[in-house]
Amino acid sequence: KYILAIESSCDDTGAAVLCNDKVLSNVVAKQEIHELYGGVIPELASRAHQQNIVPVVDVALQKAGIQKTDLSAIAFTQGPGLMGSLLVGGSFAKSLSMALDIPLIAVNHMHAHILAHFIDEEGFDKPTFPFLAMTISGGHTQIVKVNSFVDMEILGETTDDAVGEAYDKTAKILSFPYPGGPLIDKHAQNGNPKAYTFTKPKVDGLNFSFSGLKTQILYFIQKEVHKNPNFIKENIDDICASVQNIIIKILMDKIKLAVEQTGITQIAIGGGVSANSGIRKALKETETKYGWKTFIPKFEYTTDNAAMIGIVGYHKFRLGIFSDDEVVSKARLEF
Ligand code: ATP
Ligand code: FE
Repeated sequence: KYILAIESSCDDTGAAVLCNDKVLSNVVAKQEIHELYGGVIPELASRAHQQNIVPVVDVALQKAGIQKTDLSAIAFTQGPGLMGSLLVGGSFAKSLSMALDIPLIAVNHMHAHILAHFIDEEGFDKPTFPFLAMTISGGHTQIVKVNSFVDMEILGETTDDAVGEAYDKTAKILSFPYPGGPLIDKHAQNGNPKAYTFTKPKVDGLNFSFSGLKTQILYFIQKEVHKNPNFIKENIDDICASVQNIIIKILMDKIKLAVEQTGITQIAIGGGVSANSGIRKALKETETKYGWKTFIPKFEYTTDNAAMIGIVGYHKFRLGIFSDDEVVSKARLEF
């Protein structure tokens, strides 16, 4: 079975072709225009999706070596995301499914970040149900109990900023280009994580909060720059390492609490921030430290991509869960 998947929730236009749970092609067109503004401009994103979607789909089909008429179904991101962006991918998927008279499958972007672990890849194990997923991305920070491909419950989530936002806003304070998460990660690898101390926000249960941390970092940097105008330049590695250290601590403490509360010791991470080297290392260490089994996605399936939409599409296809042509894109999509 060949499934075409379309992802257009934010600023990247993605198309992938899967044959069952194997990825034959996974194409992403990045939108560089947003770097100029230090963040995603919704109107520009949706216009770029309109320009990119047809060529990106063509390349995905070409790379997979199949024709449109070979497709069994089309999966697309229904939400959550930017409305103008979602509408481009959604309308395209709907039209193509009608033209080819094949099923349409609506996919929740956050389910896809989690189920990316079920893509068949050499050297990557798949979790077994139930497992815990920590989705850490640009717009979300969630701990999810995953009971099956279609049954998931959110145990905790951020009450304000997402962890990716904490990274990107800190990066902005440090004058890194957008998105700055990967750059903080890079500098952190050469710095001393104990150089500066930040405090963990107090949040009950399995919820998170990152907006206070961002303010804490901002005030700290402002104070130091006032004393020494070259503070950032001279200490960039240590600053990044210390910021990364507190973020890892916040995330690991919550996942530890989730394991205590549920008794589940299989942990999968997903979303753009799961590309982070420090978080990957800290999670991996729990295998020997606590005997957990951990799942870290292949790098190309961490940030937004269509292959992860395709794997959800494949499992919904297998289970006979389809959408009709009344399905609408949703900026906020219930879990
Ligand atoms: P959502 O999935 O919640 O809708 P999104 O799709 O915009 O949000 P992703 O593409 O999953 O988010 O992730 C993007 C985020 O990941 C950005 O905030 C980026 O800075 C962050 N990120 C990417 N690589 C790293 C890294 N190595 N370290 C830290 N953050 C990173
Ligand atoms: Fe995402």
